[in-house]
Amino acid sequence: MLHLMRMSKLFARTLREAPAEADVASHQLLIRAAYIRKLMAGVYTWLPLGWRTLRKVERIIREEMDGAGAQEVRMPIVLPAEPWKVTGRWQTYGDLMFKLKDRHDRELGLGPTQEEVVTPLVAAEFTSYRDLPVNLYQIEWKYRDEFRPRFGLLRAREFLMKDAYSFDRDEERMGASYTVMVAAYRRIFDRCGLDYRVVEADPGEIGGDVNHEFMAVAPVGEDQFVYCENGDYSANLEAATARPPEPVPDGDRDPLAVVDTPGRSSIQAVSELLGRPPDQMLKCILYDAAGRTVAVLIPGDREVNDDKVARVMWPAPVRLFADEDFEARRLSKGFVGPQGLSDDIRIIADLSVRAGRNWVTGANEVDRHVTGANLDRDFRVDRWEDVAQVREGDPCPRCGGTLRLARGMVVGHTYQLGTRYSKPLKAMFVDKDGTEQPYQMGCYGIGLTRIVAAAAEQFNDGGGLKWPQALAPYQAVIIPTNMDLPAVVETSERLYEELAALSVEVILDDREESAGVKFADADLVGFPVQVVVGKRGTLSGTVDLKVRATGERQQAPTDRGAQAARDLLAAAP
Ligand SMILES: [Zn+2]
Repeated sequence: MLHLMRMSKLFARTLREAPAEADVASHQLLIRAAYIRKLMAGVYTWLPLGWRTLRKVERIIREEMDGAGAQEVRMPIVLPAEPWKVTGRWQTYGDLMFKLKDRHDRELGLGPTQEEVVTPLVAAEFTSYRDLPVNLYQIEWKYRDEFRPRFGLLRAREFLMKDAYSFDRDEERMGASYTVMVAAYRRIFDRCGLDYRVVEADPGEIGGDVNHEFMAVAPVGEDQFVYCENGDYSANLEAATARPPEPVPDGDRDPLAVVDTPGRSSIQAVSELLGRPPDQMLKCILYDAAGRTVAVLIPGDREVNDDKVARVMWPAPVRLFADEDFEARRLSKGFVGPQGLSDDIRIIADLSVRAGRNWVTGANEVDRHVTGANLDRDFRVDRWEDVAQVREGDPCPRCGGTLRLARGMVVGHTYQLGTRYSKPLKAMFVDKDGTEQPYQMGCYGIGLTRIVAAAAEQFNDGGGLKWPQALAPYQAVIIPTNMDLPAVVETSERLYEELAALSVEVILDDREESAGVKFADADLVGFPVQVVVGKRGTLSGTVDLKVRATGERQQAPTDRGAQAARDLLAAAP
């Protein structure tokens, strides 16, 4: 990388104010500090400072992927629709995929991920078990037609990703390839300096069984995740489970009784009227699953996790009942209970329902509830499932410790796909015994532009960015405070050469600006070490140094200034 640059030449105009639409720190600061500029919603130009930072992330990833035995390729961005139709993702991705037509009216898409390209590619070349394993990766721009692009780089429509795909003979070997990738991912995020957690995740549109998200911890993150305070479990909230409560031993069962609850359809209102706490009430939430009615039972103090319901009912698409559905099925919205529901309604109960009895629930009549509703005697359950949203304080599924809730942004995602793509795409190899087998695949994504945003989100203060050294566009800035004093300029130029000779990526702020403007810009852009060459110091033979991340300051003799800056860099985060 080029080490030398002068601020007077750098294509960067910092801004005192962020645009009004920028509502998170990373977005505000990356624009103010001249890292990115918006072209249109969710699409950004990378300016020289931002590009250097992005290239640094890229270099770390490339080194670790190569080191882990993956081979770099470059796949097209513009893709034919057909393989996407075969895997069903042309439809399931829906409007999130940029779709277009060529002049011959052929359907094309802009790639959001590349399973449909890489799977046939490998199947055409590496056809024998002797060829396996193989792991191909690329670093390429990807596209998603987000309904509402926001948070700058965090929900953009164009973004840079590293995606890798492993191909193995069997599940065990796929698991081994996966383990190698997860270890490489940890090294990548460690080297980037991010505060992150590896969490168990919901497979979503990609499919497959085992998968993990690498979540950069940030209060503005779009995702919530839970983690055990004992450190043995963490999961995306969509996929998180808690240890279910023990079933209660049989006890007295109250008779079923109907009570009037005029105008009270919410848990809270009924709870207040009857003087029963919400955890003694049984909620009955109705869903439509491909035309079939599904009733989900859960205690009144808990919420249903719709993602879990969707997984239970997969592949049927699931949606919550709307008012028309209640009318069509002649069910009383707000007063539905499981007792007496017709046999064609599938009743799914959360595991926590086993821990209660004598429930208060809807009477299936407007303005009425029942008390004393008991399993088996008064209502049936067709299926027991974990469909509850985990909440802060729930017991850990592994150790029973306390689960905590936090927010983060996904910067990496790894999946064991198995044969999710190789089977429909008929991607087969010839195994040792001569039989044709589908490849066992893994896929592994990292959002490079997201890493930049996540780091900007994690490392900033009122003054601007405080990059970890590995990501800073330049490691040191030299700030001459008086450009009209030849001694100051000469000292600065000499330090600039000396730092470059020590292999420090250094930039010289040789602009005819006030010292105040230069200090503010140095803080805003976030160079890890600032070397200030002032009038007084030049006369007495000293320079001032500041570590951006910690605010630590020190003075050094001018002739030791470059070495002192390098020592500070060696010690800084
Ligand atoms: Zn635990």
